[in-house]
Amino acid sequence: MKTINILGMEYALEWDTNAIQDHQKAGYCASSRCAIGLDSSLEKQRLGETLLHEIVEAIDFELQLDLKHEILSALAFAVYSVIKNNPELFIMIDPEKED
Ligand SMILES: [Zn+2]
Repeated sequence: MKTINILGMEYALEWDTNAIQDHQKAGYCASSRCAIGLDSSLEKQRLGETLLHEIVEAIDFELQLDLKHEILSALAFAVYSVIKNNPELFIMIDPEKED
């Protein structure tokens, strides 16, 4: 089982296509049992966006931020797109990989 460490909590990654499609969602974050579910039939970019969205849902829960869902969604999408569009982001700030 794959897990994602979110603020020290190990969230299990679940592939739960049927349950998700029944509820017409791309994914879910079940914070009470530390699980994130994704629909495996999603297109690759949609999968990445959904994963980031559910991670931000988990952060919202763990830190009791109580973010409005539209703000949470916008932040998750923006962070996903910056990371996605700058694959060298963390390499460029690594002093051991200076050019
Ligand atoms: Zn959501």
